[in-house]
Amino acid sequence: MASADTTAAQSTNGLGGGPEIPVENPATGAVIAHVPDLAAEQLAQLAQLGRAAQPGWQAIGFEGRERVLRAMQTWVMANADRIVATIVAETGKTYEDAYMVEINYAGGALDFWIKHGADYLQDEPIHASTLAVKGKKMVVRYQALGLVGVIGPWNYPLTNSFGDCLPALLAGNSVILKPSEITPLTSLLLAEGLAESGLPDGVFQVATGRGDAGAALIDEVDMVAFTGSTETGRRVMARAAQRLTPVSLELGGKDPMIVLADADLERAANLAVYYSMLNAGQTCISIERVYVEAPAYDAFVRKVVDKVAALRQGESTGPATAEVGAMTLPRQLEIVEEHVRDALDKGARALTGGKRRAGAGSFYEPTVLVDVDHTMKAMTEETFGPTLPIMKVADAEQALKLANDSPYGLGGAVLTGDRERGEQLARRMQAGAVCVNDALLNYVAVELPMGGWKASGLGTRHGAGGIRKFTKQQSLFISRVHLKRDLYMFPYKPAVSKLLFGGLRLLYGRGKRR
Ligand code: NDP
Repeated sequence: MASADTTAAQSTNGLGGGPEIPVENPATGAVIAHVPDLAAEQLAQLAQLGRAAQPGWQAIGFEGRERVLRAMQTWVMANADRIVATIVAETGKTYEDAYMVEINYAGGALDFWIKHGADYLQDEPIHASTLAVKGKKMVVRYQALGLVGVIGPWNYPLTNSFGDCLPALLAGNSVILKPSEITPLTSLLLAEGLAESGLPDGVFQVATGRGDAGAALIDEVDMVAFTGSTETGRRVMARAAQRLTPVSLELGGKDPMIVLADADLERAANLAVYYSMLNAGQTCISIERVYVEAPAYDAFVRKVVDKVAALRQGESTGPATAEVGAMTLPRQLEIVEEHVRDALDKGARALTGGKRRAGAGSFYEPTVLVDVDHTMKAMTEETFGPTLPIMKVADAEQALKLANDSPYGLGGAVLTGDRERGEQLARRMQAGAVCVNDALLNYVAVELPMGGWKASGLGTRHGAGGIRKFTKQQSLFISRVHLKRDLYMFPYKPAVSKLLFGGLRLLYGRGKRR
């Protein structure tokens, strides 16, 4: 941590010396480091360095790139305590939020991409089934784009920023990562790790700066992988459209949980509390609102309130010292206050919390809200804080209707004793990732695509699409050397044309299936 300033100078390729951004620990309010506040022209310089380094990186092939990422995996695990201390200091989250989510993700994702990334990008032979192309060789291939820009949020500085850099690098691209100005230190530390793992200079660079640095990055790269709010995502897409630069967008959400009367209420309450309070509620896929069938409502609420009341909140000073950490972004704390106030003004009740915690640091008390409905922001807008609004519903159909009544479609969860019924409900939820009798754990299944519907995003991360999006696809169509003619060649001859027309009608006229 003490080396953050030097690391910053190295990772931004020495482009420091100008204005700086102070980095604060939100759990204490102390300034812990300063990083360069890069200007748009400096982004262009980084882009030049990245482009110059890319061909060499691509040329070493998958094996060479896998070796570097394998060394990085070892580095991450050897330096896990240092990475966790950095994440905890710049986000104010708990040790468990950093270790069990971020380090766990880094280890699992590196392992997955090293083992499977190359397979997803192998040439794919295509079988010719259309009569006119029988005998042709057809191949789909995936080639690195060149320079990829990754723009990340502050809530998970490793998982949601660096995580996307891994498949982009493995595919043979150079990468410039623009972390949130609130949480740049983790990215800088990981850049140090990649350099020590043998990554050539210029292949991975961190561009510390504010939103305008992110905007400038869009103009420089061949693809943008953006994670952040829906509002900024729209701006990113509009700017990228100027150059027709492809984007993937992982955006906000308002994830619902449906609890049916036959659910195991102990498990349902554990999941609801854990995934609404994890990272102090600042998680993209999470539990932002709950709908409970009337017969289970009272018992579920009792269990949730008991569990939330027992949570310890505060600065996390080591393992198991707190369950709920700080609010990383001061503005987010104001949004949480606004949503709770709006709900209380409209008739909701707070059974726990309901206010900012007094004293040092930026904390909002874990809050369970009841008597809520869809006139309230707490049920319709992304709160992104430690709140859990619970609404009683008559039946599963009403729950589903309310769950889908949202501009967002990131994640969702259904809790029921009947797995089959749960799956049928999950299939009707308007969200890109839905769990049955579980929640959010799907995110660490790196083999499973993850991406939002509606205002929650465009494209996916993870799975085949999670690495192919960092490539350009080329279709090869190859004929034999000594083939003199095909059907499609001049000159036309009446007898041949007649024969062909007849043959076509015979072949396709009766919906012939082979
Ligand atoms: P923001 O949209 O505010 O910022 C995201 C990133 O974009 C930051 O690095 C920011 O820089 C940068 N940025 C700001 N303006 C621009 C611009 N005009 N052009 C390019 N980049 C810009 O999101 P938050 O950081 O507040 O993150 C929280 C949001 O992210 C929540 O809505 C959450 O749901 C979502 N999220 C979604 C995930 C998913 O997988 N779907 C995962 C994690 C979070 P700076 O910070 O310096 O302003």
